[in-house]
Amino acid sequence: MSSTTDDGRPDHTRVTVHQFPATRVLSGRGACDLVADEAARTGARRVLLVATLSASVAAEAVAEALGPHLAARFDRPAPHTPVSVTTKAMELVHRTGADCVVAIGGGSAIGLSKALAARTGMPQVVVPTTYAGSEATPVLGETENGVKSTRRDLALTPGTVVYDPDLTLSMPSGLTRTSAMNALAHAVEALWAPDATLFTDALATEAVGGILSSLPEVLASPTDPDARARLQSAAWLAGTCLAQTRMGLHHQLAHVLGGAFDLPHAELHTMLLAPVMEFNLPAAPAAAARLTRAAGADPVAVVSALARAHEGPTTLRELGVDRSRLRGIAERVADAPYPNPRPLTADEVARLLDRI
Ligand code: NAD
Repeated sequence: MSSTTDDGRPDHTRVTVHQFPATRVLSGRGACDLVADEAARTGARRVLLVATLSASVAAEAVAEALGPHLAARFDRPAPHTPVSVTTKAMELVHRTGADCVVAIGGGSAIGLSKALAARTGMPQVVVPTTYAGSEATPVLGETENGVKSTRRDLALTPGTVVYDPDLTLSMPSGLTRTSAMNALAHAVEALWAPDATLFTDALATEAVGGILSSLPEVLASPTDPDARARLQSAAWLAGTCLAQTRMGLHHQLAHVLGGAFDLPHAELHTMLLAPVMEFNLPAAPAAAARLTRAAGADPVAVVSALARAHEGPTTLRELGVDRSRLRGIAERVADAPYPNPRPLTADEVARLLDRI
């Protein structure tokens, strides 16, 4: 439920709690040049630099700026933070005496950073290159033997986040679209979350408006740094929403389907969002009003058009999902639903999945 009434006024009839993480956020073109100073600011002497191959140019520059404080480099983070990968990175930590992690990349690199912090308590300086939002959250999902387990601990929230839009210029259009839709989903679900506050409503509304206006600009001019900066800033707000509110049916479906079929994170979010909005919005009038204002039109139609224009897979079938298993997924979801504005039955979830 939104913390505001349908006409947008704060609802003071219930108590809300807001927990702010102690995070320092730098943002703007050239911010990545400050990463070595930011690492030094944490008191670090020996830095483990984690970076995906897609960020190798930026990583090279950061390595040079770190100079003698670079303890080691690790360039193979993997989606869903496999424990086997973390174990390899931990060997480097032990061997080199690293006391800080700098991670450059998408949610996979940042997941590894959190996993290392969980095991060592080391400070984290993270440089996101997608819009996934993990940098803003206290959540770590790790996989071992095909099973994903998630923990939430404020101490896992990276202490320093560096947003440099220049690092997003290289995102291909498919990743740009789907990663931005992933961010959009955080903000949309925050608007109907049971623990929404005036603060998260404001962030989520600004995030939705910012993503819906800047994503088409970025898709039209992928190397326009100003449009990229606007999209990245909106995604930052959306990531903060993910951290501050409990997610509902959309994220539950993404977690359950992603886990069951090992699906690409951002593409899955992209195809789920409009159908879930269509299902939930009749039961979330305050969220619907905010989304309609932010979209300037029917928000389901706007989100659906953005999703359908993706040049990669847009249906579960195209992702190779065995549809005969969807009934079982629907039952699992309905048996233990995440908090959702509209109560759901297995039949309803199955019907929803049928359309994706
Ligand atoms: P990702 O980090 O796996 O990156 C996807 C691909 O894009 C990779 O091949 C990567 O090398 C490439 N890439 C990244 N940035 C690029 C750039 N600027 N230019 C070109 N290529 C680039 O994917 P993601 O969507 O960022 O993150 C997904 C992962 O993050 C999942 O494991 C998900 O569970 C996790 N996640 C966790 C949280 C959380 O709060 N714990 C939140 C969101 C996502």
